[in-house]
Amino acid sequence: MNKKDYYEILGVEKNASDEEIKRAFRKLAKQYHPDVNKEPGAEEKFKEIGEAYAILSDPEKRRQYDQFGHAAFQNGGSGFQGFSADDIDLGSIFDDLFGSSFGFNFGGSRRNSNARSKGKDRLVRMNLTFEEAVFGCKKSLNIELNDTCSECHGAGGFHEKTCPKCHGRGTIITEQRSMFGVFQTQTTCDECNGLGKTYAEMCKTCHGTGHVRQEKEIVVTIPEGVDTGYQLRISGKGEAGINGGPNGDIYIEFVVKKHDFFERNDEDIYLEVPITIAEAALGCKKEIPTLEKNVILEIKPGAMTGDKLKLKNKGIKIPNTARKGDMYVVLKVVTPTKLDRKQKKLLEELADTGIDNEPIFKNFKKNL
Ligand SMILES: [Zn+2]
Ligand SMILES: [Zn+2]
Repeated sequence: MNKKDYYEILGVEKNASDEEIKRAFRKLAKQYHPDVNKEPGAEEKFKEIGEAYAILSDPEKRRQYDQFGHAAFQNGGSGFQGFSADDIDLGSIFDDLFGSSFGFNFGGSRRNSNARSKGKDRLVRMNLTFEEAVFGCKKSLNIELNDTCSECHGAGGFHEKTCPKCHGRGTIITEQRSMFGVFQTQTTCDECNGLGKTYAEMCKTCHGTGHVRQEKEIVVTIPEGVDTGYQLRISGKGEAGINGGPNGDIYIEFVVKKHDFFERNDEDIYLEVPITIAEAALGCKKEIPTLEKNVILEIKPGAMTGDKLKLKNKGIKIPNTARKGDMYVVLKVVTPTKLDRKQKKLLEELADTGIDNEPIFKNFKKNL
């Protein structure tokens, strides 16, 4: 077997530091990556670089290599139990270096991307006016979503064939030596992403992903009574599923604007109604708005600021139930500030009649 020296492949000295090895590998890997370099032999070179890095970046393997050379990694050799350089999972090495997730899963198998899986859910905030939230409405929502590619119907390519790297298994078994011993590691095939099949021709519309980004308009029926923080789930309208799995859902979270007059407390509403001192003292009938229509409210003589009058079932509908909250009218006696001469005189006369309230402070001095 006439294999090139790993240090030579990476172009580093025998005593190169880990950092130097990493840097050399990174530079070469970028140069020979099959996606970038279409020259003949580039892919071979790329694999060679990966293999050299896999050995030299692992202190234990590097030590073995320094001691035994390539013989350390031949089956039955004096090095690892059954380790073969052919088993190196380049995908994991590149994940490690270039950022995506990396992790050996000792004994277990990694996520099987062959499985049909549900698309991602999306959360969208939606602003509503008080009325829209209270009475319900239909609103359209424009949202950018992954949609199944119509060109390849989600496959990502054309002319399916068995993956040459994993021979259709979707996984690659590697053995990994760690301080706990030798572990068999099953990793997802990086060639076919675990599907066990690849395509002779990649779909250009979706670049092999099987979906395309698309702005969609969704008409949402908002039930009566939603409030800020309330979430509505729209099933199956989220991101497209993976490998034919179902779509994700859309969650709409509402933000409801305050009303100028009505104040909301869950399904109850409060309305402050100003009345004059005469109305408060004598009682009156007053037309007030409710959520539906105006009603005549009877205010009994002697009303005070802060008195609360309950109008049963005039509140907000509790979403998806038949129940309604109540409405509370809160009275506010307004003291007149601009009196004409006649009004002033009448009030003075009124005061002279001894209309004062209970003298609540009559014992004040005595108790001091
Ligand atoms: Zn494969
Ligand atoms: Zn496509």
